[in-house]
Amino acid sequence: MGSVTPISDKDRIFTNVYGFQEPWLKAARARGDWDGTATLMKRGQDRIIEEIKDSGLRGRGGAGFPTGMKWSFMPKEPKPGKPNFLVINADESEPGSCKDREIIRHDPHKLIEGALIAGFAMRARAGYIYIRGEFIRETEVLRKAVAEAYEAGLLGKNAAGSGYDFDLFVHRGAGAYICGEETAMLESLEGKQGKPRLKPPFPAGAGLYGCPTTVNNVESIAVVPTILRRGATWFAGFGNPKNEGTKLFQISGHVNKPCVVEETMSISFRELIDLHAGGIRGGWDNLLAVIPGGSSVPLVPAAEIMDAPMDFDGLKALGSGLGTAAVIVMDKSTDIVRAISRISYFYKHESCGQCTPCREGTGWMWRMMERLREGDADVASIDKLYDVTKQVEGHTICALGDAAAWPIQGLIRHFRPELERRIAEHTGRGMLEAAE
Ligand code: NAD
Ligand code: SF4
Repeated sequence: MGSVTPISDKDRIFTNVYGFQEPWLKAARARGDWDGTATLMKRGQDRIIEEIKDSGLRGRGGAGFPTGMKWSFMPKEPKPGKPNFLVINADESEPGSCKDREIIRHDPHKLIEGALIAGFAMRARAGYIYIRGEFIRETEVLRKAVAEAYEAGLLGKNAAGSGYDFDLFVHRGAGAYICGEETAMLESLEGKQGKPRLKPPFPAGAGLYGCPTTVNNVESIAVVPTILRRGATWFAGFGNPKNEGTKLFQISGHVNKPCVVEETMSISFRELIDLHAGGIRGGWDNLLAVIPGGSSVPLVPAAEIMDAPMDFDGLKALGSGLGTAAVIVMDKSTDIVRAISRISYFYKHESCGQCTPCREGTGWMWRMMERLREGDADVASIDKLYDVTKQVEGHTICALGDAAAWPIQGLIRHFRPELERRIAEHTGRGMLEAAE
C-alpha cells in the first residue's frame, strides 16, 4: 500500500479544525451549507444511497460498518404503524474521543442538513439526535441550530423546499457511557434503563419502538451533504482502498500540540503527528506506545505504529483498530500498566451489569490489573488474566465486554516483560523485608 498525500485546506469538510467558526445559520450558509439541498434530494432516495455506498464511507462511530449498506437495510415501503426512524448517536463518551463535540460546537448545520438528507434517503419522517448528558453547551448550540432550521423552513413540513416532511428532535442523555451502544440508546430513548439488547435483530429490523431504525454517528451524518455536493468519487479519492474518505483525528497525550484535525484516511501515524501535533514530546525516540482509536482498542508499541496507515484495515493488521480515531499518545514517562489498569476501571464502572462475564469479569480483571501494577502477583497470574479476557471477549451481549478485554490483551502481548519485572521486583522486596 503506497503512502497517501495529506489533504489540502480546500478538501476539509469541517472548517472548524483550524479555529473557531461561527455555528449559526447565516455563517453556515456562507460556508455552503444548505445550498441547493432540495436539488440534492431530487436525485431520489435510491441514488443517494448508491452514492453513499460508492463514496466508501464507513461508520465513523468506531465499528466502521459501511454506511450506505446500513441505509439500504431500511424498508423502502414502511408498513402502516411501523415508520422508519433515524437516530443520530451524539453520545460521544469513548475516552479519547472528542470529534463529534467539535462538529456540534462549530458546524451543527452540517449535521442537521445531513440528518434531513439521510432521513429522506431511508424514508424516515423523524430523526432523534441523542446527545451526551455532559455536553451541556453543545446541547444548547444544537437546540438553537435546530430551532433556526425550523424557523427558516429547513426542517418540518416541506423541509428545505424539498416537498418532504421531516422532523428532528434533540434528546439529552443522563451521563451513562453504555447509552452510546446503539440498542441501549434506543432503550433510553424509549424511556427505559439504557441496557443493550441482544442483536440480531439489528435496529433496521426492530429498532426504536420496534420500528425499523438506523443509528449513525454524528460524523457519518455530517459528511453526507458534502459527499453529495462534491461527489462520491471525490470522497473515495482519499485513503487506501476500503478505507476511503477524510476523517477527524483527535490527538491527545504526550504530543507537543494536542488537537482535533481532519486528515485523509490512511495517513501514516508519523506524518499525522508531525504535521498537526507538533511531534512527540521529547522527540520520536521518547515514544512508548499509542492507543490509536479510543480506549476500546489495544495499544500499539512505538516501533510498530510509526509508519502504520491510520485506517481501519491498517490498524487491524497490527492487532488494534481505528475505532473513533482518538489517538492517545504515551511517551516513556508513562506507567503503562497503570494506564491500562485505569482503563480497566472505567469499563468496570460503566458495565450495565446485565451479563455475567462482563459484570463479574470487568471487576475481576481490574482487581488483577491493580495487583499487577504493584507486582503483587505471580507470573502465572498474567496467563490467568489473559485467559479471563478471552472468556469475556465475544461472550457478552454488547461490545463493552470486548472493549474491557482488548486493552489488557494488548498490554500482555506487548509489555509482558514489564509485568514480569514488577513481579520480580515485588518478590525481591518481599524477600528483603522477610530477611530484615
Ligand atoms: P457492531 O460492529 O456490532 O455494529 C456496527 C454497526 O453496524 C451497528 O449499527 C450495527 O447495527 C450494524 N450492523 C453490524 N452487523 C450488521 C448486520 N449483520 N446487519 C445489520 N446491521 C449490522 O459495533 P457496535 O457495537 O455498534 O460499535 C462498537 C464500536 O463502537 C467499537 O469499535 C468502538 O470503537 C466504538 N465506540 C465508540 C464510542 C464513541 O464514543 N463514539 C464509545 C464506545 C465505543
Ligand atoms: Fe451490559 Fe457489559 Fe453485557 Fe454490555 S457486555 S450488556 S455493558 S453487562
